[in-house]
Amino acid sequence: MRRTRNAKIIGTLGPSSNDHDTILKLFDAGIDVFRLNFSHGTHEDHAKTHGIIRKIEEERGRPIGILADLQGPKLRVGTFANGKEMLVPGETFTLDQDPTPGDATRAPLLHPEIFAALTVGAQLLINDGKIRLKVLEFTETSALTEVMVGGEISGNKGVNVPDLYLPISPLTDKDRRDLTYALSLGVDWVAMSFVQRAEDMAELRSLVGQKAAIMAKLEKPGAIEHLSDIVQLSDGVMVARGDLGVEMPQEKVPVVQKQILRCARQEGKPVVVATQMLESMIHSPVPTRAESSDVATAVYDGADAVMLSAETAAGSFPVEAATAMNRIIIEVEKDPHYRKTVDAAMPTPGDTVADAISSSLRHVATVMPLAATFTYTESGFSSFRAARERPEAPVIGCTPNRETARRLALVWGVHAVIHEVMNSIDEMVSRAIKITLAEGYGEMGEIIAITAGMPFGRTGTTNMLRLTRLKELPG
Ligand code: PEP
Repeated sequence: MRRTRNAKIIGTLGPSSNDHDTILKLFDAGIDVFRLNFSHGTHEDHAKTHGIIRKIEEERGRPIGILADLQGPKLRVGTFANGKEMLVPGETFTLDQDPTPGDATRAPLLHPEIFAALTVGAQLLINDGKIRLKVLEFTETSALTEVMVGGEISGNKGVNVPDLYLPISPLTDKDRRDLTYALSLGVDWVAMSFVQRAEDMAELRSLVGQKAAIMAKLEKPGAIEHLSDIVQLSDGVMVARGDLGVEMPQEKVPVVQKQILRCARQEGKPVVVATQMLESMIHSPVPTRAESSDVATAVYDGADAVMLSAETAAGSFPVEAATAMNRIIIEVEKDPHYRKTVDAAMPTPGDTVADAISSSLRHVATVMPLAATFTYTESGFSSFRAARERPEAPVIGCTPNRETARRLALVWGVHAVIHEVMNSIDEMVSRAIKITLAEGYGEMGEIIAITAGMPFGRTGTTNMLRLTRLKELPG
């Protein structure tokens, strides 16, 4: 079984979809990677879902990626004596560290780190940015604010502080417990929320090691200032447009989305565009024109993957949403201008051997048509590098590691195949021919390019490019 498109689809699982029947339908409809959202559900729920995905992987005989998304430090206001209050623009409202339930004049905000970082004029956004408060004056335990945009405020609503750098780790105690649990299940990718600096990714890496690939969710304006450093320390990044659109004026989100895509493409790191892609499909079996156009734009811009959140997790039409996304991607990739757009945005090669090999691969493809690029890879590195070139012919990611194959499910254009360890170049070439033919990626007489790192087994070294013709081989 193989997909006929390059861009991949991530689908979030939740109450609408975490049963065997629906997950199977979602996979068949085109979901390549399933996201377990640790903001919701218990460990037992995630273990059950994880088990179902692994069973479907066996049933379908294809590696499937699983992404564990850690909640991160979601800041919240405390409770209200009357459950809720109405804030009026122009009036003042106090936030403080007194846990007594709030009223029309004040509310608890039990996050000392916010008060430690406050500045006069800083904005506090409540309930996905629907309410805006501006700090007039503050002490270590209380802040007097002016209501800029009012409305109903109720207990436990989220708080965003886009203007402030909070000296906190994006890994809360809950995240650390969730991370340990997710790794014990054997997830393939771990995404960290509210990353602010490259050091946050270094901290995640020190906890994860090589047990999973790590992804930075870019949803803080501060992270965009350190974009290049964060991308370099991550295995992949996500344009997390939900919180990004709260933390910065939402008209800036499309611009930042393109900036992140360019940066990740340049570094050869997989990039995911997420949130509200087919939002109306939570309630409707068809997307709006604007939503189809949004998915298409991400694909034209060269995203490795597009993501469904509530559409598949909590919506009424999860399978229809996956089907719609699959169709949009296929249609875009059929457009001759898609190729031109992808080529025009091609990253410039660096000065490493791996860059020289992958840019030669691009050059070869302009001289002679290739049936496929066969990458033999332990860690996935050679496949990541080949995918960075966005070649016209498919990339086969052949690996002895099941974990690597699952990680590659998220990478643009890569069809992962698990195969036993290869010990010599001759063996690799003959296996590459057999696997390419068996997987239906070429016909006798066509040429394939093979890239790999020598010596085999050492990760991060792509240093070999070999061309060979598909032919009948003994055995
Ligand atoms: C987002 O904010 O866009 C996002 C993907 O994160 P979450 O769904 O965890 O809010």
